[in-house]
Amino acid sequence: MKKRYLLAPGPTPVPEEVLLAMARPIFHHRTDEFRTLFKRITQGLQYVIQTSAAVFTQVSSGSGAMEAAVVNVLSPGDKAIVVDGGYFGARFAEIARAYGAEVVLITIPWGEAVDADAVHQALKENPEAKAVYTTFCETSTGVVHDVKALGEVVRETDALLVIDAISGLGTVELRPDDWGIDIVVAGSQKALMIPPGLAFLSVSDKAWKVIEANKSHRYYFDLLEAKERLKSWDSRFTPALSLVAALDRSLGLIKEEGIENVWARHGMLGRACRAGAQALGLELFARRPADGLTAVCMPEGIDAYEVYKRLLEEYGVTVGTGHTRIRNRVIRLAHLGYAGRFDVILGLAALEMVLKEMGADIERGKGVAAAEEIFAGARDNRDR
Ligand SMILES: *Cc1c(COP(=O)(O)O)cnc(C)c1O
Repeated sequence: MKKRYLLAPGPTPVPEEVLLAMARPIFHHRTDEFRTLFKRITQGLQYVIQTSAAVFTQVSSGSGAMEAAVVNVLSPGDKAIVVDGGYFGARFAEIARAYGAEVVLITIPWGEAVDADAVHQALKENPEAKAVYTTFCETSTGVVHDVKALGEVVRETDALLVIDAISGLGTVELRPDDWGIDIVVAGSQKALMIPPGLAFLSVSDKAWKVIEANKSHRYYFDLLEAKERLKSWDSRFTPALSLVAALDRSLGLIKEEGIENVWARHGMLGRACRAGAQALGLELFARRPADGLTAVCMPEGIDAYEVYKRLLEEYGVTVGTGHTRIRNRVIRLAHLGYAGRFDVILGLAALEMVLKEMGADIERGKGVAAAEEIFAGARDNRDR
């Protein structure tokens, strides 16, 4: 028997009480019972997203909500500005092109965050652009973009600001209503602590005007239809009932902890993981690191993919690989969602053991010690 540990940036571990919530017998969705539940999860999502805008729940993976944020906003031939700073930023560009939009790319080197001035410049050069699309936390590089600064720029124009917060939501402070963010895209299997299969979008008043004028062909992801149904707390299609039941429980856990405390906990975990990696002499890949995961560069001469494989096969620890071009250079340790201090300790300890075994010049225990120092000094030192 080998005990397995899931430290990947999605899917993430699910708390026991949330797993149990999915074991309840299936109930019917055209009932008042379901409507009450759907209203409660929608309001719970508004709390986690910190928005008073309408929030939609759909059955798809996170990318389905990215697609909804494209097909409802962009008509064929429309221009969109897309921030491409990693694997997931590039996905927005792919979706927009698939629907016949003209994409203006802001390409930034992997590991770096977008500069609000670059977005300002792109909007000046493309005043007809319908929207700016960006990731919030770019999970492939471990970078968190300053979406607050982007909001200040975009809100002065007619363009919408759409963010992919699939891994960022519930890990880093986010206040879309105050910051001028129009559409927030989220998914179920990251910090929301439920299995894969649901995706979410919040839609601002400014965005509705664009959506109402939109001429794209759409059916399953049509937000105008979903909006009509939401008036009576109905789901247009059969909802993933068990996942909705799970979400009801996990949103309860988030509410109990308080969103500010959830952010603070991830802040502490992020600081500890970064301190641990650096104490081992390892370089962080992200210039502006996210708190939900840490992308760590492996030492010269050590293949990151080999580290990933040994962690998985010999130690039972699943971490994130580096995507595409950084596959042999980076591994990603997640401390996301249902995560506490010992997830960071575990990840660092496993990394120390594998690196030592592969001949890296590191000192055993040094990463773990540095993380413990951060925990000892953290004001918010509670674990879950
Ligand atoms: C995980 C992730 C996605 C992909 O979501 P799927 O659920 O696999 O479709 C997209 N964007 C970001 C930032 C992610 O972290």
